[in-house]
Amino acid sequence: MSNERVRCLIIGSGPAGYTAAIYTGRANLSPVLYEGIQPGGQLTITTEVENFPGYPEGIGGTELMEDLRKQAERFGVEIRTGIATAADLSQAPYKITIDNEKVIEADTLIISTGATAKYLGLEDEKKYAGMGVSACATCDGFFYRKKVVAVVGGGDTACEEATYLASLASKVYLIVRKNYLRASKIMQERILNNPKIEVLFEHNAVGLYGENGVEGVHLVKRMGQPDEERYDVAIDGFFLAIGHKPNSDIFKPYLDMDETGYIITEGATPRTKIPGVFAAGDVADPHYRQAITAAASGCKAAIEAERYLIEHNL
Ligand code: NDP
Repeated sequence: MSNERVRCLIIGSGPAGYTAAIYTGRANLSPVLYEGIQPGGQLTITTEVENFPGYPEGIGGTELMEDLRKQAERFGVEIRTGIATAADLSQAPYKITIDNEKVIEADTLIISTGATAKYLGLEDEKKYAGMGVSACATCDGFFYRKKVVAVVGGGDTACEEATYLASLASKVYLIVRKNYLRASKIMQERILNNPKIEVLFEHNAVGLYGENGVEGVHLVKRMGQPDEERYDVAIDGFFLAIGHKPNSDIFKPYLDMDETGYIITEGATPRTKIPGVFAAGDVADPHYRQAITAAASGCKAAIEAERYLIEHNL
């Protein structure tokens, strides 16, 4: 294995990673950024971003990420393709293995690896993977023009995905396990006023069926209650929108995390319990998970990294 030493290593290329890259690049820290499992991060699988300040008409998620990348490149950031597959944070410089083959030794490390969509854990989700099951409406919605689909979840993501799918599909069922939506009021209104969307409150999806791909979903209404009902609904596509899991597994032996795996940082700072190691964006944020909050924490991590390098004469 070949080793390379860098002053600042950034893992992940969402708003947190790119913002950290812009700031550390501008501060002449010669940062190296690895794009990670999803180049551009989660925004590349959304359609329109309407709430990122500075875009009065909104901006496409992919477009926004391309702009951030260009801005980072302008300040000399070295952007590389690769996934961090192992970490040794036992002592500085911190060692990160990329693609199981190359080890980077970093004086400072900014972890901005984001979070990945969760699945229900049904066997049928695996069975029908790529055959009607998806966790990304904007990636796969196109295949369901004039078809019937179901979205699982009651948060903002589920509502956003259901609204998007309703613009393509003939009918969208929103499967919500509670008797209310957790999503913001504006998203709830969009859902409840959309004639193509039918919300199935107090429903759980327990399985899928179909010969050559998804043809329907097995539903349970008021699961575990005396008046529980079980029935099937014919659908062509099954979309998961039930939250995300932070991509923090390789750091587990070294950093404090909550039960879901979100990295715990010191107060409102991106500092982890290891000096010189910072966590920014969704990997450390179970609460806000917005592009703008991720960008802000990437900025904070960059400033912290710069201070750390100065303090340690690195
Ligand atoms: P959330 O955690 O907010 O919502 C997850 C939803 O999935 C909940 O309704 C939850 O149900 C349901 N769920 C979780 N596990 C299961 C399961 N096993 N079976 C059935 N249902 C399940 O995640 P989101 O991804 O929607 O949102 C994450 C964050 O990002 C939020 O803060 C949200 O506001 C934000 N966001 C903002 C957007 C915007 O402003 N444009 C767009 C998208 C997200 P229950 O309520 O019962 O727990």
